[in-house]
Amino acid sequence: MAKKLKNYIGGEWVASSATEYTPVVNPATCETLAECPESTREDVDKAVRAAREGFAEWRQTPVLNRAQYMYRLKTILEDRFEDLARVIVEENGKTIDEARGEVRRGIESVDYAAGVPFLMRNDGTEDISSGIDESTLRQPAGVFAGITPFNFPMMVPLWFLPTAITCGNTYVMKPSPQTPLSMELVYELLDELDLPEGVVNLVHGGKDAAMAVMEHPGITGVSFVGSSPVAKIIYETCTRNGKRVQAQGGAKNYIAVMPDADMTASVKNIMGAAYGCAGQRCLAAAVVVAVGDAYDNLRDELVRQSKELRVGYGLDETTQVGTVISGAAKERIERMIADGEKSGAKIVLDGRNLQVPGYEQGTFVGPTILDDVTVDMSVAREEIFGPVLAIMRADDFDEAVDIINGSHYGNASSLFTSNGRYAREFKYRVNAGNIGINIGVAAPSASFPFGGQKDSFFGDLHGQGSDSIEFFTERKIVIERWI
Ligand code: NAD
Repeated sequence: MAKKLKNYIGGEWVASSATEYTPVVNPATCETLAECPESTREDVDKAVRAAREGFAEWRQTPVLNRAQYMYRLKTILEDRFEDLARVIVEENGKTIDEARGEVRRGIESVDYAAGVPFLMRNDGTEDISSGIDESTLRQPAGVFAGITPFNFPMMVPLWFLPTAITCGNTYVMKPSPQTPLSMELVYELLDELDLPEGVVNLVHGGKDAAMAVMEHPGITGVSFVGSSPVAKIIYETCTRNGKRVQAQGGAKNYIAVMPDADMTASVKNIMGAAYGCAGQRCLAAAVVVAVGDAYDNLRDELVRQSKELRVGYGLDETTQVGTVISGAAKERIERMIADGEKSGAKIVLDGRNLQVPGYEQGTFVGPTILDDVTVDMSVAREEIFGPVLAIMRADDFDEAVDIINGSHYGNASSLFTSNGRYAREFKYRVNAGNIGINIGVAAPSASFPFGGQKDSFFGDLHGQGSDSIEFFTERKIVIERWI
């Protein structure tokens, strides 16, 4: 019988009052790794109360002392680097190298949070009027919560928690029930820090636990990352309940390739962007728009090299593409490929029905390429979230920009070119929050906000960077006269 996961509340591991559990399945071996509780409102309430109680003491802890916990957390995460990467592979199915990249990115967010004493510093002006001084006070705002997706089970929660708590808030994390084990391990490590009780809390569960979080009057703000339909629900529910909210949604990312681009480098980058994490990245390349003469070479090379990728179990160091998250995801992806073909796209590389010896039950989908895709097709418009690349053609740069801007998503977009004017125009005109120039995956580092526009983001302050300091603090303006 697989282990039943517990919640972490007020500095202790406590059993959930759930009656329902979701199996956490290794998508390559189909082994059940754990049972994740569908935590109840009562569980969420306990966590929020613990966080509220912890807040009073924690906000008075000097910020330099709060930052010290981040230095220690970094050391512990570095010491357990390989264990963390392994857990990610086991529950998510990505390759071990991708998991290492995820752990590295997660640690970078801890590094950033160690800078909070500087980042939340206040400012002021003396003699704003005769004998009157005016200044800002940046204060922690209360209890924050994270509702996070399966695809980066460690990195995404770490976009939020370290900065939130170092700013003096307390936290309740609700990770994806499909991949709760990465946070389970991170919380075991947080437990070693001996933070005051209630500073960090973990509640497992799905939709009901998320709803209980959003409707709880004790929570000040919610950071969400996941699909767009859910992001919209989260945004609406949180605002209705008077909470601040940042809701990062799904994506359909376009990459335009100009005929003047370095084709070898472009193909390598595009393949990494399309098939990395089996296409289950919100920054995954979903559509390549080949401009003019770029098409023939690009298409042939993409097909030739994509065929060569080794699909397999992520813990095998030679694997280049891991599994998708579940049988349901595999079915959805294969159905969307079939829909693409029905609507007129040509399947030039077909990753459906792939069998990996030794892992016959695994939920693998091989690299797939659809050619002759047009803007009206669902494979051009909707997020597939699998290793599927659509190829479209544009006569010129302007048409490529129009195609990209026609998307209802606006998470990321990249251009491959050797022409600075096109690069500038692209940055200027494309409506996407993360722009790559000769970069396939335009992933902002921890000190920059993670962009996102249109249906890819609901809210105003984004995750990471200076936006996160704004999001996790409350400002007061103090106007003083002492003479
Ligand atoms: P999801 O939307 O299904 O779930 C995300 C979280 O929301 C989970 O914790 C889940 O338990 C919870 N949830 C699900 N349905 C809910 C509901 N009706 N009400 C309240 N909570 C609910 O997303 P997923 O499948 O776990 O993750 C993949 C999606 O995340 C993709 O669309 C991907 O593009 C997106 N994503 C976006 C970013 C970004 O920064 N924009 C980053 C990573 C992933």
